[in-house]
Amino acid sequence: MRAVLTSECPIATTTALIYLRISANRTSEHASIEQQRADCTALAGRLGYTHTVEFVDEAVSAYQDRARPAYQQLLRQLEGSEAGTVVVWHLDRLYRKPRELEQLLDLLDTRPIRVESVQGGSFDLNQHEGRLFARQLVAFANYESAHKGARVARAQQHRARNRLLHGGSHYGYRSDGTLHPVESAVIRRVVDDNLLGLSPTVTARALNADRIAPPRTNRGWHATTLRSMLDSDRLHQRRRDHAAARYVTGAWERLLTPDESALVQVSLLVPRRDAARSSTSLLGGILRCQLCGKRMVTGVTSNGKRFYLCKTTTARCPSPCLPADDLDAETEATALARFSNTDYPNPPHPRDMLERARTARLQFTALAVDFGTGKLGHAEYLVKRQPLADDIDQVGRDLTAYNRARILALYPAELRRRWESLSFRRAVVCALLPFDLPTA
Ligand SMILES: [Zn+2]
Repeated sequence: MRAVLTSECPIATTTALIYLRISANRTSEHASIEQQRADCTALAGRLGYTHTVEFVDEAVSAYQDRARPAYQQLLRQLEGSEAGTVVVWHLDRLYRKPRELEQLLDLLDTRPIRVESVQGGSFDLNQHEGRLFARQLVAFANYESAHKGARVARAQQHRARNRLLHGGSHYGYRSDGTLHPVESAVIRRVVDDNLLGLSPTVTARALNADRIAPPRTNRGWHATTLRSMLDSDRLHQRRRDHAAARYVTGAWERLLTPDESALVQVSLLVPRRDAARSSTSLLGGILRCQLCGKRMVTGVTSNGKRFYLCKTTTARCPSPCLPADDLDAETEATALARFSNTDYPNPPHPRDMLERARTARLQFTALAVDFGTGKLGHAEYLVKRQPLADDIDQVGRDLTAYNRARILALYPAELRRRWESLSFRRAVVCALLPFDLPTA
């Protein structure tokens, strides 16, 4: 059976999501969309899926900034699902820009999502190596497309030289570069949530619930919108000067302090923290299994008792289930008790953290290239990778210290006002008890 999805709806576990894209500049090496469809459906069948749902973007080149509605719909579908399997003809059908890949990897971080491709299925995006290679491929593809875009870039040089915003309208700003009072307040809210450790998914949901008007081109707020907003040059006061191949500081009105800007950028470079995961329970995705170290999820017994258990898509870990109600109450009490503690160590300066995270990321990529081209053996690669992974982890922990400072500053009135929100309580728990959560 084949169906084309018109709006987000629950997907059964027997259903595979197929993403098809055919670009305008089609070459002989790319199969036609019918061929892609036939191959993908066959692969889904071989993998045991009895139903498929298709997401099709036709005649959209991934290199252009034109929207890919079906791809965004696919991401939203995955965002709203517990798990899922995506089938593509080739991984390059799925994403071409680094940002698109990161959106997908973010989702893979929080949910057991499989990505299977007809061609070159050797990339396992659920594994660390696969991710590194995928990032590398995307970096090269993006570099090539940047050359093609040089002509367009020249048209922007005049504005760049004057350190002005790009032409066109920009959410949050008036055309003269001053802050739009209403829209900039929304961006401020998005940033404040980010600095508390809340995920874009949680913030997007809250903005929709409060009926805040989204940017003109969007229907509703989505995590992907917020992530690109948080990553935008205009938020961080950056203007690329193509002629000089460098960034200059924009001459428009500033919304963030330099420290806040650095912290937001750090949050996009380190792996998503536990609090960023949205969940229906206080500790789902936060608690770690004592046996295998994986994150535990929530379940409910037949008589309605909630518990945490360790489970992957394929296997059930033999570790015991933990009673959720008791553990939640105990954890909340411990977190609240920490509000009277003022003896927290000072984290490093935000801009030093940003520098450290950027350096580690660049070295990660360089290592992946050396490994990919055979310059580095697997064992050696693993050894060299470890200190970089430790560096990134440390920056992540330092960032938690800033989340904690923001949360402590909400005490008591604002804390009481927001306590009702489960996502907020999860952020509090993660910021105040990051390393010593009970595991059994
Ligand atoms: Zn386990």
